[in-house]
Amino acid sequence: MKPVQCGGRDAQWLKKILQLNDPLKDINPCFVAEPLSPHLAFPRAKQQIDIAKIIAAYQELQKKYDIVLVEGAGGLMVPLAEHYFVADLARDLNLEIIIVSRLGLGTINHTLLTIEQARGRGLSVKGVVFSKIKNKKATFPEQTNPQEIAKIGNVPILGTIPYLKNKTQKEILKKCHLDLEVLLTPQKNRTLELQAWDKQYIWHPFTQMKDWLADETLVIDRAAGNYLIDTDGRRYLDGVSSLWVNVHGHRKKEIDQAVKKQIDQLSHSTLLGLANTPSVELAKKLIEIAPADLKKVFYSDNGSTAVEVAIKMAYQYWQNSGRPEKKTLVHLANSYHGDTLGSVSIGGIDLFHKVYKDLIFKTITFDSLQNLEKLEELFKASHNAIAAFVVEPLIQGAAGMLLWPQGALRRVRELCTQYDIFLIADEVATGFGRTGKMFACEHEDVTPDILCLAKGLTGGYLPLAATLTTQRIFDGFVFDYKDQKTFFHGHTYTGNPLACAAALANLEIFEKEKTLEKLQPKIKFLEKELRKFKDLSCVTEIRQLGMMVGIELGLFSWEERIGAKVCQKVRERGVILRPLGNVIVLMPPLSITMEELKYLVDTVYWSIKEVTELYVVAGLKCR
Ligand SMILES: *Cc1c(COP(=O)(O)O)cnc(C)c1O
Repeated sequence: MKPVQCGGRDAQWLKKILQLNDPLKDINPCFVAEPLSPHLAFPRAKQQIDIAKIIAAYQELQKKYDIVLVEGAGGLMVPLAEHYFVADLARDLNLEIIIVSRLGLGTINHTLLTIEQARGRGLSVKGVVFSKIKNKKATFPEQTNPQEIAKIGNVPILGTIPYLKNKTQKEILKKCHLDLEVLLTPQKNRTLELQAWDKQYIWHPFTQMKDWLADETLVIDRAAGNYLIDTDGRRYLDGVSSLWVNVHGHRKKEIDQAVKKQIDQLSHSTLLGLANTPSVELAKKLIEIAPADLKKVFYSDNGSTAVEVAIKMAYQYWQNSGRPEKKTLVHLANSYHGDTLGSVSIGGIDLFHKVYKDLIFKTITFDSLQNLEKLEELFKASHNAIAAFVVEPLIQGAAGMLLWPQGALRRVRELCTQYDIFLIADEVATGFGRTGKMFACEHEDVTPDILCLAKGLTGGYLPLAATLTTQRIFDGFVFDYKDQKTFFHGHTYTGNPLACAAALANLEIFEKEKTLEKLQPKIKFLEKELRKFKDLSCVTEIRQLGMMVGIELGLFSWEERIGAKVCQKVRERGVILRPLGNVIVLMPPLSITMEELKYLVDTVYWSIKEVTELYVVAGLKCR
């Protein structure tokens, strides 16, 4: 079928060569004589392209044949009418796309552009057919084009049509051999299938599944650098580092290779009763880069367990050393340390934590970092009952990127030392360069007694966590076996060699690529770019520490889900974000380029403007 023809007699030729008995009006429903783009040619001939007529003709042919091939009139982006392209017709007819490319220089570019455009418009690409345009031996580009396009574009190659001299049916049948199997099997729409199975089988974390089941699901299939790629080939800038874990970008060569190499050595062996090579090497490395005085590494699998381990250690330390009354934990208001019950006990975000209140243990919440004399009063009065003070140093991430007052962390350290209370620093979010230094504690030259690490530890590759302690705490567990003062804690996958190999490679890249040095201008640039958000009347505060940013939108009620609306809007523009309530969070990989950073910030700016404007027009007072 050649739905639209401007000039020439291709349709007549097709009918003849294929010996089709169908009426020409079905093979070619729309025709004008002038060879010109259809959207111009038809109006000049005082005619209109009738899409309904094309669809009806197509349906006629469909009744008679197993397969109807529809010729795409010169390409996907040929305008058939104003704002109506061949790609739209393909969509309306529910067609799969076969791209026909001529072999030779420039083909890779043209073919990949077409593939991207097709997938970007939700069309499925069945494959590529190559056409030889000269009767000569294939040149090197002609030989290599198909395999390169197959690889980069992730498409099947259906075959190459040789140069045809006579174009008779006999010649065509003799010389053209395409991969009919691929051509004839209807392609399952992988995206639709995965979306359906996701809804059928998966319960998503931190997600109201009622909304999830009602909304369209984005299925990520691949990634490259700072981009995630969905099952239809669309690319999205990873604006929150895949929930705060990615560091040097996705599919980072060195980490990929380190994990592959480790797979050939050992994937897992337990740390209960045995040691393994990568976990030893990583522990040594972590102690080298961590704040001074941290001497021992205890591994677990995620941020919550890293904190869980820390609080159990602090608690048991005092039991072991004959001061069992020192057992209360102090934490900050609005704190977040994970989702296991121990870490929920020291959590201070009502929305997440209040439902579990009867399951958790008693703690003291400290809510005035602005006024540390209160902390001193508390410590003075109760230090005999307090085991540890747990903090997210300098910035409280999950609370919406709340910043500490300058100098407060150092003062907290002094008070903890003075009253012999352990300082537990949860750097699960802030660790590994996120704040501009390797660890947030470094900004105020502080060494905690216990340091919790996870998220960025493996560069965003594998689940791994580490709880680092001082020699003193470690020594508080070194007794005779019969004393039963062992630290009774350990997860099955503790010290997993694959994860440790990824972490080692991640840390090596920091040195090799001078990641932190190169990050400084990006942080400055981000700071400068964020200033323009002050023009937006609904932005009530902009908070930044290094590459961690919270943009607060006020005064929306939480039912408006304003953060989610903004993040949906940025997604339409090719950026992935996840908000914290009414706070838009930016936490891109450290590897983000200046150009990508600019795109990220601009996209967020315009999306906030667009989404909040409606409310402003309706009279909402934001400040
Ligand atoms: C994410 C986070 C955790 C929890 O880590 P998980 O790996 O999700 O268990 C703990 N503390 C802080 C500060 C975090 O940001």
